[in-house]
Amino acid sequence: MDDYLEQILHLIKEKGYARPVDISRRLSISQASVTNMLQRLDSEGLVKHEKYRGTVLTKEGEQIAQAIMDRHELLTEFLRLFGIDEETIYRDVEGMEHHVSRATLNALRAVTETLRETPDFRERVLKRLGE
Ligand code: ZN
Repeated sequence: MDDYLEQILHLIKEKGYARPVDISRRLSISQASVTNMLQRLDSEGLVKHEKYRGTVLTKEGEQIAQAIMDRHELLTEFLRLFGIDEETIYRDVEGMEHHVSRATLNALRAVTETLRETPDFRERVLKRLGE
């Protein structure tokens, strides 16, 4: 469900709307499954269907999607500090983001901020990684 909300928000930010065909392509899931999931999200009040715009997020859906996206960005930012290639980062983040607890996320945020504020410490970590 998180993946759906995340992709819907991505699509809306990119194109202004989210069509089932685009969602199914992004998630490599059949259009029938997408339609089912959209109905579920609709019944939970997280998305609604608008005649000319397609699927849009409700206010509550948008809040949840935004939190999912923030988490995605934090994990991406964290991994970028170590010079890992973007493709690996994306794959890892997509795997990690649904399993990571709030406590771990807070710890990673603190480490990310500290590494950013302490370039020489980051250099030491990178050096060790390169050894
Ligand atoms: Zn993600």
